[in-house]
Order: sequence, then C-alpha cells, then structure tokens
Amino acid sequence: MSRASKTALAPDLRDCDERTVRAWTEPMAVTPLGGGCYRVDTDADTYTVDVPGHRCTCPDYHFRHAHCKHRRRVAIEITQGRVPAPGQRRADCAHCGHESFVPETADVPLCADCRLDDGDVAVDRETADTLVVRRVLPDRADEYVIEATGRSVAAHDTNEDYPADDLVVEAVYLGDQLRNDDPRVYAFPYSRLRQVEDAAVVD
Ligand SMILES: [Zn+2]
Ligand SMILES: [Zn+2]
Repeated sequence: MSRASKTALAPDLRDCDERTVRAWTEPMAVTPLGGGCYRVDTDADTYTVDVPGHRCTCPDYHFRHAHCKHRRRVAIEITQGRVPAPGQRRADCAHCGHESFVPETADVPLCADCRLDDGDVAVDRETADTLVVRRVLPDRADEYVIEATGRSVAAHDTNEDYPADDLVVEAVYLGDQLRNDDPRVYAFPYSRLRQVEDAAVVD
C-alpha cells in the first residue's frame, strides 16, 4: 500500500524573515480591484498592491522599495486560491453556475469544465457531426433569433430537447471549414454540443 508523503501546509516561520512572518500571521483582508490591483486592509491602514507593477502604496515600499508584507500577503492569497490571480475574476459559471475564477475579459464567464474557446472541437449530439467552436454568446437559446428562419435557437425543430435558457454557441462544421475560407456559422444550444479533445479528431 502506498503511503502519502509528508508535507507541511505552511512555511516554517522560524526560518522566515520578519515581513514573511507578518504576511502570514497578521490579520489582513485582501480585496481584488481588477487590473492586477488588490486592496489590503490591515488593523492599521489600507493599501493598494499592484501585482504586475510590483508596487504597494505603503511606506515600507515607498521609502525602502521593500517587498513589503502586503505584496507577500497578496501573493499568498493568490497561491492559495483565496483571491483571483491578476487577469482573472471570481464569477458564477454562466452554464453550470459553479463559482470559479474566469478570465477578467471573458464576455461570458465559464468555469474550467464548461469553457469553450474559439477553435475548440465539439460533436453535435443530434447528428454526430464535428464542429469547430467560434464563440459562446451570453444570449439565451429562446432569445437568439436565427436570421435564416426567423425563429429562436430554442424553437428550432431539433433543439426542443435542450433547455430554453441554454447559452448559444456559434460554430462551423469542420468539413465546411476545411473546404471553405468563410464557412457558414450556425447557432446551437450549449448543451447540444459535446466537447472533445482535439486529438480525438481524425479526418
Ligand atoms: Zn505594502
Ligand atoms: Zn461551468
């Protein structure tokens, strides 16, 4: 029987310098402000840490350019998943509702399990056709109207088994994409597509 290896869950503070000890042990509240900046509230004051800029508004940074306890605390909280990393934000997944960190710029917040990016390959559960995803829209399937038919995605004959409030995914048929520089884009209810690993596609 294999045994789990022994590991420490926090650094040995006896070996750490004072700023690191304080970063781990002092009560602080870290609030993401977006753009890689975080507000850090301590018992004494409130400062702003700019992670990409490697800056803090505290005197320790201002006068000594120190890697101050606030910058260390923000790094600890990012590493532990307590706050989003720069470029990410906390959001409920627009498909499954699960809370996670998503790219700050994402129009439609999707968790790691539900994320569909431009170029991802998916299979149409109705026809088994292979599709290449273009984008996920925030629109509901019963609100997005297909121009060619004048009806919503949800009202389309073959989509009746999928939730009316599904997100809409725009995709092209892989065969079209291989033959045509400008393949026609189709709209699908999110649940109709099954994501596959790119490696599984052979033509
Ligand atoms: Zn600081
Ligand atoms: Zn999700």
